Amino acid sequence: MRPIQDVFPLLQAPKKIFITTHHKPDGDAIGSMLGLYHYLTLKGHHVTPVSPGELPDFLMWMPGVAQLLNYEAQPKESLAALAAADLIFCLDFNDFSRTKHLTQQLADATQPKILIDHHLFPKPVWDYGMSIPEKSSTCEMVYDFINLNGDNHLIDLDMAACLYTGVMTDTGSFKFPATTASVHTMAADLKRLGLDHTRIHEEVYDSWSEGRMRFLGYVLIEKMEIFHKYNSGLITLSRKDQNLFKAQSGDTEGLVNYPLSISGIKFATLITERSDEVKLSFRSKGNFDVSSFAREYFDGGGHFNASGGRTKTSFIDTIAYFKKILSDIHPQ
Ligand code: 5GP
Ligand code: MN
Repeated sequence: MRPIQDVFPLLQAPKKIFITTHHKPDGDAIGSMLGLYHYLTLKGHHVTPVSPGELPDFLMWMPGVAQLLNYEAQPKESLAALAAADLIFCLDFNDFSRTKHLTQQLADATQPKILIDHHLFPKPVWDYGMSIPEKSSTCEMVYDFINLNGDNHLIDLDMAACLYTGVMTDTGSFKFPATTASVHTMAADLKRLGLDHTRIHEEVYDSWSEGRMRFLGYVLIEKMEIFHKYNSGLITLSRKDQNLFKAQSGDTEGLVNYPLSISGIKFATLITERSDEVKLSFRSKGNFDVSSFAREYFDGGGHFNASGGRTKTSFIDTIAYFKKILSDIHPQ
């Protein structure tokens, strides 16, 4: 993979640019994609951002959302944009399969592919890019990309809102260890532009439906198990559970973090039954590496303290298998 700076000469003349991100996109995925969309559009390019699937409601306020294509709803337009593109940017994932629907199309595409991402172990399939696991978020890396090209002065409030969102969500509101001095410097820079950080926080975190709040109460009382001797917490959600309290897709977002707020709990897991698979989310505090854990046992990956995986085994069997692993490895 050639360094990201080598992309700048390709951007001297107007280009058709396709940007995509991972399936089930979060604040960093959509924030980085739209932040880059605004920047490259301002530079005179024709840019099409494509999300592999629908967005959660709490991101629908973001500047540029109306210009996004949703592959699940608009496959023809999305594939036409991919076919017509001169360049392909891949943000916040490092393995084509994380896009779910675009896996084969990206593998087959012959245009230069550019990676901007902070997950561990990128697949060697990109022509240009930056892959820096120490970075707080892909949004921070898009900010770095703009600065590297000498364009800090072009950052406007739309870009700022998009980029701030991903930094805020991926750092747990500036809490996780990856929140470096550079992250705060970036936030200060965006703030000086006039960024309304309170509004962004409210849009993302204080926009729950009543049903979602009651669903959370139910889950914490009925569906969370705490294993103090393994410093671990587990939440399990069957398909039936997910339909209670009129819960929507996206209402499980952030649930996995709750056990970590209990004193002594260092490892939290959410097991979710989906129509075609069982999804697992892992979070940790300190030195338990959930990226390796996800890779070893659940065909997944991610970051040291936040990862995910999946299995085709039944929901019930997955829970039993997970508990067996827990008792074997005793996370510290
Ligand atoms: P989440 O639990 O929010 O789905 O994912 C947490 C982190 O792990 C995210 O950074 C995500 O990219 C990564 N992740 C989630 N599921 C998978 C997976 O199946 N494979 C890989 N390689 N990473 C995953
Ligand atoms: Mn991210």
